[in-house]
Amino acid sequence: MTALTLLGATGSIGTSTLEVLAAHPREYTLYAAAAGRNVERMEEIVRAFAPRKVAMSDVGAARMLKERLQLSGLTPLPEILEGESGVCELARDPQGEYVVAAIVGAAGLKPVLEAARRGATIGLANKEALVMSGRLFFDTLKAHGAVVYPIDSEHSAIFQCLPESCQRELGACDLKGAGVRRILLTGSGGPFRNTPLEDLASVTAADAIRHPVWSMGPKISVDSATMMNKGLEYIEARYLFNATPEEMEIVIHPQSVVHSMVSFIDGAVLAQLGRPDMKTPIARALAYPERIAATVDPLDFTALSGLSFMAPDFRRYPCLRLAIEASLTGQGATTALNAANEVAVAAFLEGRICYPDIYATVETVLSELPSLKAESLEEILDCDRQARESAGKALGARKAC
Ligand code: NAD
Ligand code: MG
Repeated sequence: MTALTLLGATGSIGTSTLEVLAAHPREYTLYAAAAGRNVERMEEIVRAFAPRKVAMSDVGAARMLKERLQLSGLTPLPEILEGESGVCELARDPQGEYVVAAIVGAAGLKPVLEAARRGATIGLANKEALVMSGRLFFDTLKAHGAVVYPIDSEHSAIFQCLPESCQRELGACDLKGAGVRRILLTGSGGPFRNTPLEDLASVTAADAIRHPVWSMGPKISVDSATMMNKGLEYIEARYLFNATPEEMEIVIHPQSVVHSMVSFIDGAVLAQLGRPDMKTPIARALAYPERIAATVDPLDFTALSGLSFMAPDFRRYPCLRLAIEASLTGQGATTALNAANEVAVAAFLEGRICYPDIYATVETVLSELPSLKAESLEEILDCDRQARESAGKALGARKAC
């Protein structure tokens, strides 16, 4: 029986993880669950999975949850922790042997580092944490004997296509030694792949969230539309697989049937295929090296109408170019890129800026804060704070949409 700590339990990945858990009640149990402020959903999770500990980063939400559970007479009540420190305390608890890191954005960084510091096994969905901390994250894992498995579907696909020598050395893989020529990171191109460029100025948050293939949380849905998501994944893949820029290629694949590929020096290309359902990479990360059922149907190849692949157009996806450039510049730039993007996407979701302003904001911040040092956690958090401030100012100068 593996005891799980689920960070980001009320979100899209959190929900998919609980579905996999529910299919394997004898193998997995939910020990602890953390989230931001969704009290209703957390109450449902407590009733269905009876975790021993719960944390809400929003203090008011934590208190409301406690009150609701007490009033309902539920026994035994879970211990309820509150605030960012409560989420970190939960991540630190060694009884949660396996930690699924599925908080969205920079807020997930400290808790995942806490889990790494106590040598936990980590299933990583929270790509922003890795984009911000890269080297520090892997150094922390190594120093404390912690292990990470990717949950992001592309990285899970790449992981599955790589030989075991690489799977066992994430962060320090010898791709050349394993005969790898290139990692081919695929992306659907999002909902605006065919929108005339001149119409992008007037697309709305609701349009952006309507992803053609995947159903995900609001922030990553907007990131998929701008392809900033693929940019963050490019940075994530470089860290996870120790890949040079020459070993990386991004390919648009609208059907999202191939989840990414690895090309080898002998001309072979291995791909992982499947339905666009996050339960598959979650099950892979939870059970490695075994395989467990994920309640996902296999692909029906006779029903596929065709698979297409093309190079990304940076005029349509300028955020992707920014992310690749930031990856070449270094950790300070990728941390600033991530922070500026989070601020800009939140403003776009609230209807405060237009779609092209997301790119403009991130671009302004990166040109203002060219290369801050971001090696220690303090430096990373400082860089994140400065970039958020700079993004706030850049947004203030824009007209409402
Ligand atoms: P979501 O918005 O659906 O859920 C986010 C979760 O984080 C919620 O449980 C929320 O309560 C919690 N949260 C937010 N702020 C918090 C805070 N300060 N402290 C504690 N918890 C907090 O997002 P999602 O789509 O599930 O994505 C989660 C992560 O997984 C993101 O980093 C995303 O990039 C990554 N990811 C998601 C998918 C997907 O299909 N949804 C695929 C690949 C990777
Ligand atoms: Mg992905």
